[in-house]
Amino acid sequence: MTDKSPIRVHVDLAKRAYDIMIGHKLFEGAGDRLKKMFPGARFGIITDDMVEKFQLPRLTRSLDEAALKYTTICVPHGEASKSHDRLVGVLEAILEARLERGDIILALGGGVVGDLAGFAAAIARRGMAFVQMPTTLLAQVDSSVGGKTGINTKYGKNLVGAFHQPSLVLADLDVFTTLDQRQFASGYAEMVKYGVLGDEEFFFWLEKNLVEIQDGGPARAEAIARSCAAKAAVVIADEHENGQRALLNLGHTFGHALEAACGYSDRLLHGEGVAIGMVLAHRFSAKKGLAPSQDATRIERHLQLAGLPTTLSDVAGELASSEELMRHIAQDKKVSRGRLNFILTRGIGKAFVAKDVEPGEIADFLEEMR
Ligand code: NAD
Repeated sequence: MTDKSPIRVHVDLAKRAYDIMIGHKLFEGAGDRLKKMFPGARFGIITDDMVEKFQLPRLTRSLDEAALKYTTICVPHGEASKSHDRLVGVLEAILEARLERGDIILALGGGVVGDLAGFAAAIARRGMAFVQMPTTLLAQVDSSVGGKTGINTKYGKNLVGAFHQPSLVLADLDVFTTLDQRQFASGYAEMVKYGVLGDEEFFFWLEKNLVEIQDGGPARAEAIARSCAAKAAVVIADEHENGQRALLNLGHTFGHALEAACGYSDRLLHGEGVAIGMVLAHRFSAKKGLAPSQDATRIERHLQLAGLPTTLSDVAGELASSEELMRHIAQDKKVSRGRLNFILTRGIGKAFVAKDVEPGEIADFLEEMR
């Protein structure tokens, strides 16, 4: 595939509609594309120090060639940058650079940069347009699509934020040459999620194509495009998560609790938490007699082949107590009036939102799984 033939996935959200472009050398062509799309605009690139080193030069060369004006705002890499202090720093840098309301924020990085830059764009000057330029697999197939932006607080993850859709997503397939395998696998967990939540055929296709996806063959672009299309369909149906969008949280209630218990550190990456969470959600559903237990085993086997952790004991270091995990679950956004909104399943491709799960049932299950 060349720059001339990227795959286009349209997110049809009426006035907030946008395209996701998936292809090679998209950053090299970004200058011309942005110049046409936003004539006269200046650009604020928000990135992190790792992406600055590995990917930023590809983008700035292209902006320079197109004679575009830009400023670069860099934050340290890692989840800790999704904080109130970093947000304030980014906002002040945007104002310091005199970026105006009609100027454009470019979020160049993984999900951390995308969430932080997207939130800054949502509130700077009461809302600036922004472009997602995701550089991790997780960001390409998940966080850059759908308009959820935000930061973490001491009370939990993503508890302060805004829905703010990007104007364009450029998913450049060449970013993976510098991304390490563990990060790639973490993003792969979110791809698997789309299959297991609502598309059994896609899960079977992933089982067949895992090696080609890992090796960067044509199946990789197809898998990313199918994942983006799956996410887009859910977002179009329920942009502000009043109902079905919650299905995308499959595996995330357990996953977020594990991430929080690990202090959002390298002990457990986001997608790794989701991988364990998906297996637990399937096992819990099987325990309740809703789903066949062999489906949980099949998903677990595939995630293991992809190099992902799948059980509580796979988490590095000392495992948090069930009480601590339950405390994190209770702080999650999925709690309403003491009952848990939980994503359960009737089998691969058959997830559903359960609104009345008893916290006690989950606590007992976690104790069993330890
Ligand atoms: P990340 O942004 O921390 O990136 C992972 C690491 O890879 C970082 O150290 C980064 O500097 C480095 N990196 C990024 N691109 C690189 C590249 N091409 N080459 C080399 N290194 C590179 O993590 P992530 O997994 O991309 O995103 C996780 C975040 O996304 C979490 O905060 C999670 O809450 C959020 N998220 C948001 C949504 C949403 O809908 N908004 C959905 C899922 C996840």
